[in-house]
Amino acid sequence: MKRQPIDTYVARLDAEVRTAVHDNSAAGTEKRHDVIWADYDDPDRLRRTAGAIKQHTLENLDTYLPEVEKRLQENGTHVHWASDGDTANQAVLDILGKAGLKKLVKAKSMVSEETGLGEFLGENGIECVETDLGEFIVQIDGDHPSHIVKPIIHKNRRQIATSFERAGLGDYNDDPEVITRRARVHMRRQYLEAGAGLTGANFLVAESGRIVVVTNEGNSRFCLAPSRVHIAMVGIEKIIPRERDLSLFLNLLGRSATGQRLTVYTEFISGPRGQGQPDGPEEMHVILLDNRRSEVLASNCREILRCIRCGACLNVCPVYRQASGHAYRSVYPGPVGAVLSPLLSGEFRERADLPKASSLCGACNEVCPVDIPIPDLLLRLRDRAKVEGIPSPGVPPMGAWAVLATQPLVWRSALVAGRMINIVPRSLIPVPAFQAWQGKKDLPTWRGGKFRSWMKQRRERKEKN
Ligand code: SF4
Repeated sequence: MKRQPIDTYVARLDAEVRTAVHDNSAAGTEKRHDVIWADYDDPDRLRRTAGAIKQHTLENLDTYLPEVEKRLQENGTHVHWASDGDTANQAVLDILGKAGLKKLVKAKSMVSEETGLGEFLGENGIECVETDLGEFIVQIDGDHPSHIVKPIIHKNRRQIATSFERAGLGDYNDDPEVITRRARVHMRRQYLEAGAGLTGANFLVAESGRIVVVTNEGNSRFCLAPSRVHIAMVGIEKIIPRERDLSLFLNLLGRSATGQRLTVYTEFISGPRGQGQPDGPEEMHVILLDNRRSEVLASNCREILRCIRCGACLNVCPVYRQASGHAYRSVYPGPVGAVLSPLLSGEFRERADLPKASSLCGACNEVCPVDIPIPDLLLRLRDRAKVEGIPSPGVPPMGAWAVLATQPLVWRSALVAGRMINIVPRSLIPVPAFQAWQGKKDLPTWRGGKFRSWMKQRRERKEKN
């Protein structure tokens, strides 16, 4: 099914779906908390170490990128550089064209979502099949993923059963076991027919040129085993320096993403099939994608490039839990998306509302396995929007507040006058937004001024003693 562009996607969450998104996210946060605090005395120290390693790598990409290229080539892998999404998509098309292939099986890869690879290949006569179950359901529905790790967090099993029936995968049956078995049978045929498999990379190790891909379904392994050609599309920020760093990142990734000690399948890919190996691709290509990452690196929000796409910040975010992923109108939702999407899309003006979709509670920073200071980055982007004069529709003018907050006399007078609100009939207050709100809620009794008098009494008592 052809999907509509994500920009025009309107989030429509009915009560049932809203509850599913909320409960699923909350459960993810609890699982992460339980397992990480059960296993480590000081997980914050691990998060800070992981953040420091990623930050070091980002600040030395000029050294690590040539090193990665050299190691990959030594391992027999073809390296392609893509400055933007179109170049990366074209590189995939060219590789498939040279190999004479018309079908590609694809493991979950956020970066290929970012470049719109599936649509691009479809327009150029190549069938591209998503093999992650969640992504497959998104594909047959013409939908978009709404979570980095759980793409169909917004769907329930009845909706999925309907999607399978519509896609000709059997009569309606909403038993999860039946759905999974049908997907499995369907998918096995795709693996055998395709000839090429595409993955992303969770990590790319500079020291060895090894690609590490983690999944819970084993679909990346199936994508590769029978395929002649393996293409990995990788953002340049996915590099880590050494093999030994993997133990830290893999331990943090599984626990942060799904509360698992380790993701079920971890593939270490060192290159194409070697002599004497019975299966695996004969040809391997790595496409290293920039797509404005260099600009992000040069900005005051470069820390966001540490992200290892675990989704923990989405699960814990009170805004994401209510809104779900489509509300962010971009590939990367939630707190990470509120920073990354305005920067990577090249449309800062159109996405400048996203950094405002946050209460700045700081929970995202507390769970982030690479200790990204997301609230600080959101504030920097809000500041940038202000400096660039980008209007904020829906945000009330702050001029009156500025006068109140900077003039002590005006502030005190307003507190005294505030009591009048309980006396004056509501209908006489000529503010439409206030009257609309009044229709639904009772106004609490005005208690302004109590804190100041309490502070005054406290100070006086202290001075006396
Ligand atoms: S910003 Fe941190 S918590 Fe959010 S997805 Fe990235 S690594 Fe995970």
